[in-house]
Amino acid sequence: MIYISLGSNIGNRLNYLSNAVDLLKKRYLKNMRCSIVLETECLLPPGALKEWNKPFLNMIVAGTSDLTPALLLEGLHQIEREIGKPLSYERWSPRVIDLDILMWRDMIVETSTLTIPHPELKNRPFLTHLIAMMDISYKRDLTKQRCFSKSYTLAPQLVGIVNITHDSFSDGGVYNTVDKATQHALKLSEEGAHVVEIGAQSTKPGVSLQCEEEEYERLEPVLKNLKPFLEKKTLLLSVDTFRPALIRKILKNYPISWINDVTGNLDDDILQLILDHQCSLVIMHSLGIPPQHDNILPQTQSPLLPILKWAKRKIDHLQEMGFKQEKIILDPGIGYGKSAYQNLEILRDLDALKELGVPLLMGHSRKLYTESFSMETAQNRDIETLAISGLIAKNIDYLRVHNVRDHMRFFVAQQALKGGIA
Ligand code: AMP
Repeated sequence: MIYISLGSNIGNRLNYLSNAVDLLKKRYLKNMRCSIVLETECLLPPGALKEWNKPFLNMIVAGTSDLTPALLLEGLHQIEREIGKPLSYERWSPRVIDLDILMWRDMIVETSTLTIPHPELKNRPFLTHLIAMMDISYKRDLTKQRCFSKSYTLAPQLVGIVNITHDSFSDGGVYNTVDKATQHALKLSEEGAHVVEIGAQSTKPGVSLQCEEEEYERLEPVLKNLKPFLEKKTLLLSVDTFRPALIRKILKNYPISWINDVTGNLDDDILQLILDHQCSLVIMHSLGIPPQHDNILPQTQSPLLPILKWAKRKIDHLQEMGFKQEKIILDPGIGYGKSAYQNLEILRDLDALKELGVPLLMGHSRKLYTESFSMETAQNRDIETLAISGLIAKNIDYLRVHNVRDHMRFFVAQQALKGGIA
């Protein structure tokens, strides 16, 4: 088994790690497994610059390869360059990504450019800790288990929800001031959300839609506050809106990563604009916004059939326009035009949706269908949400959730127990 470490201590660290993992898997490593991610303080020599003291996120991957160690090292350098590590840098300075070969079975290499096992491995307890969690036969000093300050996982990717509304049914009114919404967005990102989504229009059943101006007035000041983070790319933002005029204004002024269109029904002009801005687009299946109790999919057949038919048509059209497959994200729309039983059926049987080939997003957090098995109120449904997240995660690319922190804790624990994930 080959062990490689990945570290990052500047910018959107989780995102850099995630990109590097994807490239390692695609290009160089077979049978790859990923560890959890541990935050540690920066190890610096005495006299190092103060501004270099930024906490690292560290993880390891294990796998096999037909390459020679020297060729794999070349491949790692290539990935480092592509992610943005400059060719030359000062030894202890912050870095977007650092890839090292830690061990290669029981091989010993000592050349001018490569030493295996990595000479620093013995000085980095968090790395030996990660190896020991993956490989029970690895003998490690047991006294240094608390060698990190936070833990994360790269999968499933979480989309953290910020509702800047007074009437959203899951957390209406909690983040409806500019400051609270801004702080919450940054907190969700810090907790490990891959993308943070802001929305200023509740679409719960029976809600009356506000006018466009009102929706923009709520979004704009929060967007303004978050702009520096978007420009530095330390925060990836999704905006949940289906209003073309708003999408135009937002894309013109802010570097947004995703648009979440809960109508799944934007016209070609606005789709083209989203494409030109290289945004990802979430298309959600619904039978109209807001949903009506008496307007649901036919109960004579599986709800997946009409969703599949609709999604296939939409995806074909978006691809004809030039959208790349990975930028079209399908949300089957739990709670929108489906009965509680149909929602459960969709959550139970995701294989068919996976066959469409696009990333899947599930927005099941705290929704009404949980009333079919629980008496908890909307704000108090995180345990039910987590239980379902745990069951569907293997088939879902993005879980859109209110409680990012608890999701992280849950999936870190699962991944640690499994000894890493593929
Ligand atoms: P650093 O930026 O501190 O990770 O140092 C990178 C340099 O260390 C590379 O240019 C390699 O030639 C050298 N090196 C020696 N052994 C290893 C190893 N096991 N994995 C990665 N780089 C190594």
